[in-house]
Amino acid sequence: MRLPLREVLDFLFPPICPVCEGRLASGKVCDVCWGELLRSQVFEPKQYFGFKVYSLFRYRGRVREAIERMKYGGMRVLAELFAEALSEYLRVEAPDAIVPLPLHPARIRERGFSQTRVIAEALGRELGIPVKRVIYRRRYTRPQALLKAEERITNVKGAFACLETLNGEKVVLVDDVITTGNTFYQAASALLDAGAGEVVGATLARG
Ligand SMILES: [Zn+2]
Repeated sequence: MRLPLREVLDFLFPPICPVCEGRLASGKVCDVCWGELLRSQVFEPKQYFGFKVYSLFRYRGRVREAIERMKYGGMRVLAELFAEALSEYLRVEAPDAIVPLPLHPARIRERGFSQTRVIAEALGRELGIPVKRVIYRRRYTRPQALLKAEERITNVKGAFACLETLNGEKVVLVDDVITTGNTFYQAASALLDAGAGEVVGATLARG
């Protein structure tokens, strides 16, 4: 007896939607989730402290669930799908390099992988430009979501530095979600201090 490989694989590893974990009939995301993702799309970049930041979605509903699942469940397939869409916005900027905003090492250990780095690498591939992991955290910062507005500013002030000198490159700084923009602003400033010519942002969602 010979079993068709496809059916055996589907039986052993039933295809699931990476957003809701429901059964997946076809495609990469189920129709219900896809519909909701489309309704949360944003089309214009937004300014944060003078930096232009592109986002794919508003941070709500299934977008929020998808990003949380990505962080804690290691959903690379979603990260790559989103990066592909994001690269379409970034192409017009003609950037020279992609820089991921680093997670604190303790949090990478908790999660097993950095979704920001996975997105940055997928963007680099799509746009055909190098990924430079040049930003590092100089000290521990508390999760911004747990803090009050004024604490958020002091929490991340001077938290980042750059490992190399840059030579006027136009850099895309990547993070998963942007809310107040304080963290982004501090990291972008570190890149400018190191010699970047221009910094634009790319995030999956904005709060
Ligand atoms: Zn779904």
